[in-house]
Amino acid sequence: MSIKQNLLDIRARIVRAAANSGRRIEDIKLVAVSKTVAIEGLAEAYAENQKVFGENRVQEWQDKYEHLAADCEWHIIGSLQTNKVKYLNSRIVLIHSLDRLPLLEKLNSEGEKKGGVWNALVQVNVARDEAKAGLEVNEVRDFIENAVAFPKVKIKGLMTIGALNATAGETRDCFHQLRELRNSLQTVKYPEKIQELSMGMSDDFETAIEEGATIVRIGSRIFGHRSEK
Ligand SMILES: *Cc1c(COP(=O)(O)O)cnc(C)c1O
Repeated sequence: MSIKQNLLDIRARIVRAAANSGRRIEDIKLVAVSKTVAIEGLAEAYAENQKVFGENRVQEWQDKYEHLAADCEWHIIGSLQTNKVKYLNSRIVLIHSLDRLPLLEKLNSEGEKKGGVWNALVQVNVARDEAKAGLEVNEVRDFIENAVAFPKVKIKGLMTIGALNATAGETRDCFHQLRELRNSLQTVKYPEKIQELSMGMSDDFETAIEEGATIVRIGSRIFGHRSEK
């Protein structure tokens, strides 16, 4: 299957999942996860009007972004080391992996230095997967309230990764919990609306959409299997 065909297929499935759950397609953004994919693959997706890409390594993103058109939107989806923050620039539209105070502090000071603001999602380890980053569900409210002190970062919502070997039911429950958490945060003392739910990957994006995902992150179902990590 070609990247083009894969994309058309994924889009059709997103439309169906949205329709099945009575949601509007405009409320669901597809991030094409292009980690380890060569520029040619991204260019093929771009030719099919895919302009939103997710990378998990800053170095790899740096090597890629200037080769693609300026109207591409870049998302950082992987663990972000504080010593890499200085390499980020305004081409980064959303950071999905805000998961600790030192990173929040670093993003804020870098925003001050560069005269810009970062949009970010708080990563939540709903599945309590030891191997995964993210705050615990019960830490999120305080984290966001404390984030008021860091105005160069705007928290727009939450992100989670389903557990690796979870059953379909466990995965649905995980996404459901993230939505419930988001809903419970509507009373949080924070100037931005906490709205976005980044959840769902190649194997579980339809469930995520049914559970309210506003952003899905899909890699292998678009670009094929990754050989490396
Ligand atoms: C790799 C990755 C994805 C995409 O995974 P696929 O299973 O290939 O769709 C999504 N989110 C994060 C955080 C990732 O690291």
